[in-house]
Amino acid sequence: MATQYHDRPTINFLLYDVHEVEKACQLPFFSDHSRETFEMTLDAATLIADNIMFPNLLSVDRNQPELVDGEVKVHPCLKDYLKALGDSGIIGADFTYEDGGAQLPFSISSMVGHILMAANNGMMYTGLTTGAARLIASFGSEELKQKYIPDMLNGNWQGTMCLTEPQAGSSLSDIVCSAESAGENEFLVSGQKIFISAGDHDACRNVVHLVLARIKGAPLGTKGISLFVVPKYFEDGSKNDITNMGIYHKLGQKGVPAMHLGFGDQCRGYLLGEPNKGLNYMFQMMNEARIGVGFTGASISSAAYHAAVEYTKERPQSRRLNKKNALDSPQVAIIQHPDIRRMLLFQKAAVEGSLSLLTEVAQYFDLSHYSESEEERKKYHLLLELLTPIAKTYPCESGLRVTSDALQCFGGYGFTEDFPIEQYYRDIRITPIYEGTTGIQSQDLLGRKVAAENGAALKLLAGEIQKTIDEAMAYDHLKKYANELSAEIKNLSTITRHLISVAATGDTERFLSDATLYMELSGLVTIAWQWLKIGVTAQKKLAASDDLKSFYESKIHTMKFFYHYELPKTSGLSKRLLDEEVLTIDQGTEFQF
Ligand SMILES: Cc1cc2nc3c(=O)[nH]c(=O)nc-3n(C[C@H](O)[C@H](O)[C@H](O)COP(=O)(O)OP(=O)(O)OC[C@H]3O[C@@H](n4cnc5c(N)ncnc54)[C@H](O)[C@@H]3O)c2cc1C
Repeated sequence: MATQYHDRPTINFLLYDVHEVEKACQLPFFSDHSRETFEMTLDAATLIADNIMFPNLLSVDRNQPELVDGEVKVHPCLKDYLKALGDSGIIGADFTYEDGGAQLPFSISSMVGHILMAANNGMMYTGLTTGAARLIASFGSEELKQKYIPDMLNGNWQGTMCLTEPQAGSSLSDIVCSAESAGENEFLVSGQKIFISAGDHDACRNVVHLVLARIKGAPLGTKGISLFVVPKYFEDGSKNDITNMGIYHKLGQKGVPAMHLGFGDQCRGYLLGEPNKGLNYMFQMMNEARIGVGFTGASISSAAYHAAVEYTKERPQSRRLNKKNALDSPQVAIIQHPDIRRMLLFQKAAVEGSLSLLTEVAQYFDLSHYSESEEERKKYHLLLELLTPIAKTYPCESGLRVTSDALQCFGGYGFTEDFPIEQYYRDIRITPIYEGTTGIQSQDLLGRKVAAENGAALKLLAGEIQKTIDEAMAYDHLKKYANELSAEIKNLSTITRHLISVAATGDTERFLSDATLYMELSGLVTIAWQWLKIGVTAQKKLAASDDLKSFYESKIHTMKFFYHYELPKTSGLSKRLLDEEVLTIDQGTEFQF
């Protein structure tokens, strides 16, 4: 069993050196914080991860939740985990003081999430509670806030997001769950929701569902969807009319029950905010969850990568290629073989590049909410909106390769249950599916985010990337990479213009037919930007002192790997994205799949 699942020196380097998150403390909202309070929170999370989560990694997977007599039984360690997170204040750490939080920057609370997810992603309960409680904090009445938020943030009550229905998965405009007024702000909410993560369990005392439903007579489509708070239990202890209709048995993330829920005729809920604005409100939770899922992808990948590093250092096999026939010499550890090093370097590049991008995005979240001027808040909001689909997709899609390559490093043992690597390989598979599949994220990026406000967000991003390029040009070692990134930005902008010209013809299907490839291209360019940022920071550190020399040199080496092995993939993608030939659109003619 591997001993390491995350890398605190790299986390600290990304937070404090590359992204300078301490600067957030200059904003009034975060002014009570300092590097010391950040470190205390990260240490508290590490303790819970080390003592409760990581030791139960396999056990949570092997003893999955079951539906027994209508109730969901989960692993007993989940009670300890929720209590520990509630008692330590971690669940609501980034909430305002008024809502019971500690006003911790999101860039720190999400790194806390990374440590927890890397230890055991089968315990991803509290991210849902945080997102649900934040919806109540943002849009709820004082009464709803006081009734629900405290017990959610102290770990007593679970929060959920109830969007998906059998006919409405990717297509939320087709939601049919219905709501009918039953008094002031109270509604009868009925229908079925499927795949609801942590939809019920016995590790907490109540479950607070945030449910999308349509008030009778509301318009069709997304403009007729409202949002309701639907508790499992009311204050007087009576149970709501919610039935556990089924539990899914899944490929991975087995520790978390995914529920099929039935909201019966007598199920009561409370309207959150105004009628018909529910999907707009829910986007707050969805965007937060998308960043959270990006972190989950990077976290599972991190655990798989560290397991592979440990294994390949210990497993002797063959001799170096130049001494293949020296059979009287001992076998070498497989980490010495170039093919293994190539796989490990890719894993390191994807994991750390993803974490860097996610930290950047989490910072944009903080700045878009708490910058002092309206202009700054708007700027960071646009950047956040643009980068969220990429920050969800790259870590999850590259994470599939990371866990696959990590498993490959284990050879045959990787395919067995003797090592947890097969579990990471299974666990990560959901991440490009839930919270909007890769296909849907890609359409969001190209179809909405890139074109929004006449391409303002893309221009802002190009400006941010240019700052990194300018800094890198000051170092001879980095000029080549700065120039390459500069050329990639020009290429991305040429391709974007081309695709926007296709959109202008009104042929939306053709415009978006290769959106996923556009996403892949954007992901590579964005991660190359992050690696150049990392490279510049490492170069500055090396110029300043000899401390941690090999740590910083390894960062620069990994940056080079990304530019030599991954970034060149943009040329194939670009060729296709400029190609006029249409091959994937259904033309109405017979085609035999
Ligand atoms: C383990 C698990 C946990 C989940 N947790 C929750 C939860 O807590 N709350 C919740 O509400 N939901 C949850 N979900 C549901 C999840 O968000 C959906 O499964 C996901 O959004 C996809 O919807 P679907 O399964 O209906 O697939 P579909 O929408 O049927 O998609 C199938 C395929 O078709 C593609 N596709 C669909 N429409 C288009 C289109 N217009 N253009 C191009 N391609 C398209 C998709 O990209 C996908 O590849 C969970 C699912 C799972 C498996």
